[in-house]
Amino acid sequence: MPVQRLVPTQEAADLLALTREIAQEELAPKVAAAEADEQFPREVFRTLGRAGLLGLPYGEEYGGGGQPYEVYLQVLEEIAAVWASVGVGVSVHGLSCFGLATKGTDEQKQRLLPDMLGGELLGAYCLSEPHAGSDPAAMRTTAVRDGDAYVLTGEKAWTTHGGQADFYKVMARTSDHRSRGISCFLVPADSAGLVADPAERKMGLTGSTTALMRFEGVRVDADRRLGDEGEGLPIALAGLDAGRLGIAAVAVGLAQGALDDALAYAKERETFGVPIIEHQGLAFVLADMAAAVETARAMTLHAARLKDAGLPYSRQASIAKLVATDNAMKVTTDAVQVLGGFGYTRDFPVERYMREAKVMQIFEGTNQIQRLVISRALAKGGAVSTAVAPAEFALA
Ligand SMILES: Cc1cc2nc3c(=O)[nH]c(=O)nc-3n(C[C@H](O)[C@H](O)[C@H](O)COP(=O)(O)OP(=O)(O)OC[C@H]3O[C@@H](n4cnc5c(N)ncnc54)[C@H](O)[C@@H]3O)c2cc1C
Repeated sequence: MPVQRLVPTQEAADLLALTREIAQEELAPKVAAAEADEQFPREVFRTLGRAGLLGLPYGEEYGGGGQPYEVYLQVLEEIAAVWASVGVGVSVHGLSCFGLATKGTDEQKQRLLPDMLGGELLGAYCLSEPHAGSDPAAMRTTAVRDGDAYVLTGEKAWTTHGGQADFYKVMARTSDHRSRGISCFLVPADSAGLVADPAERKMGLTGSTTALMRFEGVRVDADRRLGDEGEGLPIALAGLDAGRLGIAAVAVGLAQGALDDALAYAKERETFGVPIIEHQGLAFVLADMAAAVETARAMTLHAARLKDAGLPYSRQASIAKLVATDNAMKVTTDAVQVLGGFGYTRDFPVERYMREAKVMQIFEGTNQIQRLVISRALAKGGAVSTAVAPAEFALA
């Protein structure tokens, strides 16, 4: 069933129509084979970049789309409804551009941002290390100043687009201070000493390459440091607030795709002489799935609208990530149930959706860490604020 959307402008409605067209024509025919063969679809990202879909929430002066976050997230959702790995990739690329767009100097932005936002260059984001995932301040990778450069040494685990990306946004230690001793660098993929391990063999999201990156004395020009020395962790964490909303939107799209497939099947498949959707016990499963998808979408867009209005949104981003990914896990599991035995085979994509949903509860901060963020915000309290939304809306 088409998703009913309310977007702020006609331009946004047109953008969503374009996204749906590209998703159906360019993504849908490729997804099953690429996921089965564990092939990273680099050319799909070029297509999305050329269509202007890789830099949507960033300023037009540097080649971005100048769109509100609520529009960007709905585009992301439409992509993920057809291909979750690509949705995750678009979100991670956006995250890898965030530091430069928010903390880069004008000179750095002019030099680097247009190719990144235009999709010519694909980004990756290196925060986690083998022993430091939920606790990134425990990282050990070092960046030691040497003349007009830094020398990076260490390992970055779980890098989405590892070995495929053109640049890596890397957090590395410039001093021993646990949280204020971390700095942020944009490292070109062809830097000497930067090596990707073989890709991880994952349960799902197999079209998205994930690899450990080794930094073996990688020299990075000092003018590729973003922000001041010691500002890396705040840059990384601010990026994650926005990135979490990206993953929430991807989870909503994935769940919507599972619901659509389950609904279509339930209208066709007959038992006891009627389509299974006419059995109330099964129809209520579908009703719960629809409620879970719409709840997750509403929470995600609420957080995005707070961000667009310049209001604090960190707690709401964590709630959105928690709700959307837990709901996606439940909805995709229920989709397998709706398809019965066929749902458990690789002849239908719902078993893949279920495998893909699982990782969304784990990355960009596990859902335990989201609960930590939410509960700390509750303990601290905070002002209740009201912002007035713009008047113009269009149906998409
Ligand atoms: C497919 C994939 C792609 C990824 N892509 C990237 C990427 O592009 N860039 C990047 O930097 N990282 C990436 N990651 C890493 C990801 O963000 C981490 O896996 C995640 O943050 C969890 O860290 P960990 O795996 O080290 O688990 P741990 O931190 O070791 O946690 C293990 C378990 O303990 C729980 N736990 C830990 N601390 C607490 C606590 N204080 N309270 C309650 N429970 C707790 C966790 O929730 C989890 O269940 C990716 C991971 C995967 C699987």
